[in-house]
Amino acid sequence: MHEMALAESVIQIVEEAARKNAAAAVRAVRLEVGRLSHVEPDALRFAFDVVKRNGLAHGARLEIVATGGSAWCMKCSRGVALARLGDACPRCGSYQLQVTAGDEMRVKEIEID
Ligand SMILES: [Zn+2]
Repeated sequence: MHEMALAESVIQIVEEAARKNAAAAVRAVRLEVGRLSHVEPDALRFAFDVVKRNGLAHGARLEIVATGGSAWCMKCSRGVALARLGDACPRCGSYQLQVTAGDEMRVKEIEID
């Protein structure tokens, strides 16, 4: 389950930011997860609950914001919007697509006390 490794890197980023800001605790973490990433939100939530336990973020709630995906279609020679990984081009039905956005995950915001 690679969500555990992802959650650990999120916690590292969050705790470092919290320490820099001399925070007593982290209230919330807002994550942007692309619709075309291989991240399973439920698995990520579970992993986050495990890794946050002993740190500044032990009481933090995790908010996951899904961001849109897009890809380059080789057949259409243009960019198209893609809702899910594995979907065909919405214009021509081709699977010759190169993901151009929506496969990333990043910490957007944290709320601290
Ligand atoms: Zn196409």
